[in-house]
Amino acid sequence: MTRSFEELGLKPELLRAVNDLGFESPTPIQEKAIPVALSGCDILGQAQTGTGKTAAFGLPILNKIVPRGGLQALIICPTRELAVQVAMDLTNFGRYLRIRALPVYGGQSINLQIRALYNRPELVVGTPGRLLDHLQRGTLSLEHLRFVVLDEADEMLDMGFREDIDSILSRCPGERQTMLFSATMAPPIADLARSFLNEPEEVAIRRLEVTAPLIEQRYYEVNPNQKVESLCRILDVENPASALVFCRTKRGADDLAENLRVRGYEAEAIHGDLSQRERDSVMTRFRAGSFELLVASDVAARGLDISHVSYVINYDIPQDPDSYVNRIGRTGRAGREGTAITLVTPREVRQLRFIERMINKRIRRCALPTLSETIERRQQQLARRVVSALEEPSGEYRSLAAELLEEHDSTDLVATLLRSLDQEGRNLERTELQEARPERLTVRVPLGRVDGVQVRDLLHRLEAVGIARRDIGNIKILEDHTYVEVPAELADQAAGLFKTGRGRRHNRTDKPSNRRRPIRGGTK
Ligand code: AMP
Repeated sequence: MTRSFEELGLKPELLRAVNDLGFESPTPIQEKAIPVALSGCDILGQAQTGTGKTAAFGLPILNKIVPRGGLQALIICPTRELAVQVAMDLTNFGRYLRIRALPVYGGQSINLQIRALYNRPELVVGTPGRLLDHLQRGTLSLEHLRFVVLDEADEMLDMGFREDIDSILSRCPGERQTMLFSATMAPPIADLARSFLNEPEEVAIRRLEVTAPLIEQRYYEVNPNQKVESLCRILDVENPASALVFCRTKRGADDLAENLRVRGYEAEAIHGDLSQRERDSVMTRFRAGSFELLVASDVAARGLDISHVSYVINYDIPQDPDSYVNRIGRTGRAGREGTAITLVTPREVRQLRFIERMINKRIRRCALPTLSETIERRQQQLARRVVSALEEPSGEYRSLAAELLEEHDSTDLVATLLRSLDQEGRNLERTELQEARPERLTVRVPLGRVDGVQVRDLLHRLEAVGIARRDIGNIKILEDHTYVEVPAELADQAAGLFKTGRGRRHNRTDKPSNRRRPIRGGTK
């Protein structure tokens, strides 16, 4: 039985913030990690993005922080995107306690950050390089630090940040609580944990032996800013008679149902904030087929008596494999056909892979329908609707029809009627959807500080082979090699660019080497 946030022992200000965000109950990693973190133990946590890990470490830290007591918690993240996201989440959780989290990362003006640090935020979330920079300048003081979090530690090691992490942690007070989160528990993580955690408690999502039902399972990679549009595309093409659409939060469910209604879809939300009467009424109407899309949060869906829907759509990826299996089990019951669709943003691809491993099944990747495919499919549906209506008596309109046909071109007439019929229903988003920004891979380039490499040169050279600056992530220049984050599908191209016989894709078993190389100033 899941415990509620109230039962986890958090301050009322935090419960209020969590409720505002629409979280109904703790995710599995939160349920496990929060009590351990509150007890003061170090934590070695296995969880990836999408599981709710930020709140798992963030809420207990916020619970213990003294407002306006200066910097007390440091969160170290691999990328600037994550640093910004985590700082934003923590500030949101801490809003009623008036606690602030400041992100510091490379690429942003250091002076701006120095000024912001001067205001003594209670938490700092930063990438290793920039944190070290501040430490070396003396603009960041870790003297009163009580909490340290290593977030996505496996990514940080992959990117060659081990030395930087060692250096930052050696400047933290010994008397502190440390939490390490990583998607994997490979030996280098265990080594990191041994170095910096003190008798940690291990926290992981239960490994389950589950089999997902035998139904068609697909996923679509979507741009996080165009999720609603992407869902509409899919709904237009699939045209399900009824679908259960899952959201992460009750607020998310309300917003999505509203957004769908505005676009002409018949959608209603169901979640924990509705009274039993309201829920019953929504359910009765859904079962009777009076609307097509039931948008639900996990908690609301748990008690629902829905025997069968033809589609289950995970608008938000579930936070653990158990929930994935429960959600999609709503379709394909009793040997009937069913389809389960999951929308995945690039950052959540890892979470999807984790679910695949747990259910021991590949989920098929599909491309979002294009605008022209969508139009074609809608027109076919419209034609079917009109042709099947031909069977119904239309006597009272016949003489008007004959009159109109005498005065107008018959194709023009039918086309106009079809258009107005089409516009009665769902609005069609007329823009092409943007490609989801691709997942990035870290490439190891065999040139480093000793070769005089600078970020600017690297960007120029990558741009010259068609890798746009906005798609390039973190760049980390070390003594004799450099790590560059590029879109996964361009990783080989990027590695090839710097090939001197040594350029290669960096994989997880690679360790940054300390060998010096005699080349200077180029790849030859
Ligand atoms: P994270 O793994 O921390 O990146 O969180 C993934 C997403 O889940 C974020 O959008 C969070 O706001 C959301 N989230 C975190 N905890 C919960 C919860 N208990 N219920 C619903 N959503 C949550």
